Amino acid sequence: MPTPTPAALSGLMMDSPLLISSLLEHADRFHGDVEIVSRRSEGDIHRYTYHDAHRRCRQLAKAFQRLGCQAGDRIGTLAWNGYRHFETYFASSGSGLVCHTINPRLFPEQLRYIINHAADAYVLFDIGFAPLVAQLAPACPGVKGWIAMTDRAHLPSIELPRLLCYEELLAAEEEDFCWPQLDERTASSLCYTSGTTGDPKGVLYSHRSTVLHSLAIALPDALNLSSRDTILPVVPMFHVNAWGIPYAAPMVGAKLVFPGPKLDGASLTELFDSEAVNLTAGVPTVWMGLLQYWREQQHRPQTLRRVVVGGAAAPASMIEAFECEFGCDLLHAWGMSEMSPVGTVNTPKGKHLQQSREARLAQQTGQGRPLWGVDMRIVNDAGIALPHDGKAFGDLQVKGPWICASYYGREPGKEHVDGWFSTGDVATIDPDGYMRITDRSKDVIKSGGEWISSIALENIMVAHPAVAEAAVIAARHDKWDERPLLVVSLKPGASLSREEALAWFEGKVAKWWLPDEVVFVEALPHTATGKVQKLKLREQFGQTLLK
Ligand code: ADP
Repeated sequence: MPTPTPAALSGLMMDSPLLISSLLEHADRFHGDVEIVSRRSEGDIHRYTYHDAHRRCRQLAKAFQRLGCQAGDRIGTLAWNGYRHFETYFASSGSGLVCHTINPRLFPEQLRYIINHAADAYVLFDIGFAPLVAQLAPACPGVKGWIAMTDRAHLPSIELPRLLCYEELLAAEEEDFCWPQLDERTASSLCYTSGTTGDPKGVLYSHRSTVLHSLAIALPDALNLSSRDTILPVVPMFHVNAWGIPYAAPMVGAKLVFPGPKLDGASLTELFDSEAVNLTAGVPTVWMGLLQYWREQQHRPQTLRRVVVGGAAAPASMIEAFECEFGCDLLHAWGMSEMSPVGTVNTPKGKHLQQSREARLAQQTGQGRPLWGVDMRIVNDAGIALPHDGKAFGDLQVKGPWICASYYGREPGKEHVDGWFSTGDVATIDPDGYMRITDRSKDVIKSGGEWISSIALENIMVAHPAVAEAAVIAARHDKWDERPLLVVSLKPGASLSREEALAWFEGKVAKWWLPDEVVFVEALPHTATGKVQKLKLREQFGQTLLK
């Protein structure tokens, strides 16, 4: 036989597609007795195993078939983190449908837009969202049925012509469904961004992108997931697939604990302790509430060792509190819906192990370094790549196999340039690859042609013991175009004067970065995903300096 030329040489490995169903099949076969524990909307705690979950997912996949769902149909969910939501993830994607998680915290008008734009065939909902569903249903005529994720006894009493009961649909089916061997590029799930500017945009993930992302986030320098972990994702399954945890956990055989609708400090702490949770993940605002609860109760988490924070910058004071007061490692991560979502995680390299506590803390306030699979660069206004010297800051662009190539049902926009996706974040990258967000492009303060980072100023202000939350916005200024304006809310009973607030910055930033004015408010406005609504603050206070 002639030796093949290199150009003709293909690898001789099995061509198994990377499929979401394979994650659950693996968990059933090799971690079948590992538990999934959920606080249910019905009020009680439910527990079962990966083996049980796999059986019910096959029943649900058959139920979707019986309802007439066709390949590629979108299955919407309005649900908290729980086992039925987990089942919907796998039953829909695994059988060739698209799991469309919907953020119930959005305004009804946005929800109506999203459900109609996605053309959801069915929408599954937690019973707590029954009033919302009753309000939405008349405006979403394309939805063939609304499936209440409960049993007959707990079925909500709402007037809905196409109301179906989840447990009844399952009970009618056998468990003999076989997961189809789909092409790994098949669409698997859909998430809409929160639409802080304009209509929400859909990001359509594939089986391949989801499995690769799961592998990457499980690695030791990322979230370091294993079968020895018990993970409680506080980040909702309607917020970028709970950062990929519902896929990565069965991949490694980790125990899962779902908190349902109760995300307050007391309810979370109860589950952390009763289920021996050692890893959790959520946004800074939730962790603020948790830290406050632990302090009030003088509680020390018994088993919790790793806390992932992302979605917004983690201030140094929060990192210190988790690590020094409560003995948990804080993993600062960054990403976005368009990135599945994880792009960077802040873990030290070998050469950092001897770092002083101060140096480590300074590094941890940054967003970390890219996982394999994510390439990143920073560019200036002209699109020229800037040096990775930790000083130059520019628009952050990314590319890789789990980064969106275009939005669902939209013409390509200006976010995609030369194969890169512009994240809308402004950042520095240091020679070791550590990225630090200095702003979102629309929030950066452009003062006399120079850029001032609103996030850097906010991080300094929230470290003040009297301050609950702080936001720095660009206020219009006659001479400098824009100048920083500080908006502060204080902790209950605390006091702080304008002068004391400004003095807090002295010696911490260049003089020309100092905010020009301070506004004190009861509370800062937040978006549906827990981020400070700077647009609203700009509308309210953006003209303050011109008066
Ligand atoms: P959106 O809020 O745009 O709907 P996401 O929830 O996907 O969408 O949020 C993505 C954005 O959140 C990022 O572009 C970034 O600005 C911000 N973000 C995420 N993680 C961090 C972090 N660790 N530090 C600072 N900002 C972050």
